[in-house]
Amino acid sequence: MNIHEYQAKELFHKAGIPAPRGHVASTVNEAVEIAKKLNSPITVVKAQIHAGGRGKGGGVKVAKNLDEVKLYAGNILGMQLVTHQTGPEGKKVYKLLVEEGSNIEKELYLSLILDRECSMVSFIASTEGGMDIEEVSAKTPQKIGTVAVDPVLGFMPFHGRKLANILGLKDPELRKQITDIGAKLYKLFLQYDCSLVEINPLIITKEKNLMALDGKLNFDDNAMFRQPSIMDYRDLHEETEGEIEASKHELAYISLDGEIGCMVNGAGLAMSTLDIIKMAGGSPANFLDVGGGADKEKVSAAFKIILSDPKVKAIMVNIFGGIMKCDVIADGIIAAAREMKLQVPLVVRLEGTNVEKGKEMLSKSGLAITPADDLRDAAEKAVKAAKNVK
Ligand code: GDP
Ligand code: MN
Repeated sequence: MNIHEYQAKELFHKAGIPAPRGHVASTVNEAVEIAKKLNSPITVVKAQIHAGGRGKGGGVKVAKNLDEVKLYAGNILGMQLVTHQTGPEGKKVYKLLVEEGSNIEKELYLSLILDRECSMVSFIASTEGGMDIEEVSAKTPQKIGTVAVDPVLGFMPFHGRKLANILGLKDPELRKQITDIGAKLYKLFLQYDCSLVEINPLIITKEKNLMALDGKLNFDDNAMFRQPSIMDYRDLHEETEGEIEASKHELAYISLDGEIGCMVNGAGLAMSTLDIIKMAGGSPANFLDVGGGADKEKVSAAFKIILSDPKVKAIMVNIFGGIMKCDVIADGIIAAAREMKLQVPLVVRLEGTNVEKGKEMLSKSGLAITPADDLRDAAEKAVKAAKNVK
């Protein structure tokens, strides 16, 4: 799960991590009122969408007076903001962060991730802040340093000194500040079950202070049941209808950009289904894991989500009935296909418990279903069917 920058900064403030004062606005009037209260010589108006690169896309503006705040707020609110992370269709801006401007001396990069190679939460730091870190990593990897934190030790002062060295901080005051920020970020990462904390840029101000000018937080979805305060930050505008529907039915669903809708049980099987569709020359429209113990309702809901996706030219169902029974799956498919008046070709591969019964139900249903013998056969049939539709 992702949250907005203004929410990330709320968490930073709570944790004692320095960030500009500011407030969220949904209207131009609110934006102007906030700017008045901030009473700062410079005010920054920032589009709140779940994507980076807003600065380059025109979603971050520095205003010198209230008239400019009004102008920029009016321009940005409601715009379809396109950045390198949104795709060409962009994202609509519903909210703004209005905050006091900062005097930037230098922009740095600091983030925290879970490094799966060493199984430790690790800092990534670079003197090249404010830009695309992927680009820095590709062109000048020597400018990026990492500091892994052993969970037995937790964050120690020497981690802070390492970060200071990577970031080229010589001033003792700034070295003290980065150690303090590092300790607080590490604590925040663990406290909220984050999968990413990114500050780009972390700035050195002209007044010689470190400050988080931007904030991006990602969370481990599997831990959200114990993070109600983070769940309150959820913004449904940022999710597709399919994703919202899927979360209601506890389905693991991720929309992709291909043309073959997939319904699979088990994450591993779902991954291999996507792979084999690619190998057969097609492209999956989604990842969808209905889970091991799905019932008729869940299967039906999953099927409807796939069918509501206009990209889908064919559907491939790949189910292994272990805990789940094939006849239950068949029942769900038939119910949903009838209700949604199935128009696209449907290829079904069933295997496992009650498979004969399941297959019989499908063939007697009167629906145009193409049965498949195995995984490869199903993928090839689905790819062929999708090509014929086009
Ligand atoms: P992103 O483009 O979505 O990553 O948005 P950021 O919050 O990182 O802002 C983009 C850029 O806007 C920053 O790298 C800064 O150069 C600039 N910017 C943001 N806030 C301020 C500010 O208070 N003062 C000045 N002068 N520039 C700012
Ligand atoms: Mn940024």
